[in-house]
Amino acid sequence: MTSASPALADVARAPWDAVILGAGPCGSVAARELARRGLRTLLIDRSHFPRFKVCGGCLASGGVEVLHRLGLDHILAEAPRFARLAVWASGRSATTRIGLMRGVDRTHMDHSLALSAIGAGCTMLDGVLGQVEPDERVRLSREDETVHINPRAIIVADGLKGNSLRALREFDWQVRQRSKFGLGGAAGHLSGLDADSILMCIGRTGYIGFAGVQRGHTAIAAAIHPNALDKPGGVRRVLEDLLVESGAPVRLPNGLDLRGTPQLTRRRRRVEAGRILVAGDAAAYIEPFTGEGMTWALRSGELVACFAQRLVECRLESGSWTRTLRAEFTWARRRCALVSTILDCPPLLRAAMRLTGQHPSMAAGLSHSFGRLHQERRA
Ligand SMILES: Cc1cc2nc3c(=O)[nH]c(=O)nc-3n(C[C@H](O)[C@H](O)[C@H](O)COP(=O)(O)OP(=O)(O)OC[C@H]3O[C@@H](n4cnc5c(N)ncnc54)[C@H](O)[C@@H]3O)c2cc1C
Repeated sequence: MTSASPALADVARAPWDAVILGAGPCGSVAARELARRGLRTLLIDRSHFPRFKVCGGCLASGGVEVLHRLGLDHILAEAPRFARLAVWASGRSATTRIGLMRGVDRTHMDHSLALSAIGAGCTMLDGVLGQVEPDERVRLSREDETVHINPRAIIVADGLKGNSLRALREFDWQVRQRSKFGLGGAAGHLSGLDADSILMCIGRTGYIGFAGVQRGHTAIAAAIHPNALDKPGGVRRVLEDLLVESGAPVRLPNGLDLRGTPQLTRRRRRVEAGRILVAGDAAAYIEPFTGEGMTWALRSGELVACFAQRLVECRLESGSWTRTLRAEFTWARRRCALVSTILDCPPLLRAAMRLTGQHPSMAAGLSHSFGRLHQERRA
């Protein structure tokens, strides 16, 4: 990421106000905000940047708004604007207008966000694993180097796959039984895909989406029921069968490198304690169909920076981060869970598709609410 990454021993000697574990949209925005306020901020990611992330690449209006407010519009340069969502299921299709969504290339976006945090004065270490110890020190390890640091605030933004809190049982995940797994990959331009449309294909095993994003790439992402993944033929076969069942006129590109995620619908038993604040997917996630995860991550990164600053200044009221997360995201997550229930129930899905065909303006109105943030809804 940086030409001269500091030695961990030097990092351990420095006094850190805040350490952020995970440089996805949530962690990088939080790190940038803290560094901009003059706090000594360390951002850690276990991957080497730029790195791939399983994602459909559709950024909703709330996320676009956060980037704009933070002066990060340049990250969306050349990000296509989507005007329509085309849904295919059981050989039928329905198309609806949608609210503003932009097509982002996650490798590019996450790298740019991390660079913007560095530009604000934060130190970033990539290729370094962070773990929180029971005594709230943070262990950093890279190959055969290991050190401990003792920051005044710890933001855990390590996503669905993150295990940096595994030594603290009070933060254990609660994973919804039989919740879907994520799969995804990136391809070049795909024929049959309209530039201003997101294509979603639904089948009995789950759904898969296609969107043309920045840099001429196509983001391909799916959410699949766990029992479907046991079938012979591997995950590619599962996705191919799903596409055929949906009737959509699109095929998986040859040589697509598919990566997986753990089960998607999950939340933490708690999201704060002592010096630790949990944010982004690391706090809770539902499903990707409504395309809101990045928006929630960007917004929670922006918010958690304020709470971490209060923690550093010893004026954080216990429980206030938990209440804020609830107030900001509970409604959106419930709506997302409702959509997921409809997708899993064929009669409800058929009715929703019929309704979309008969009342396109109602469907458009509903889809406009996806990815809008709390303060946008109030305005
Ligand atoms: C199939 C699928 C499709 C999706 N499609 C969309 C979409 O179209 N639109 C949308 O808005 N959202 C979508 N999402 C959701 C979106 O990708 C996430 O909500 C978003 O990336 C969350 O950001 P984050 O910063 O919380 O975590 P992440 O982006 O997951 O970043 C976490 C970071 O933490 C790092 N890390 C993990 N463990 C450690 C550790 N111990 N130490 C240091 N670093 C660590 C990881 O390397 C990673 O870089 C989709 C998700 C899936 C699974």
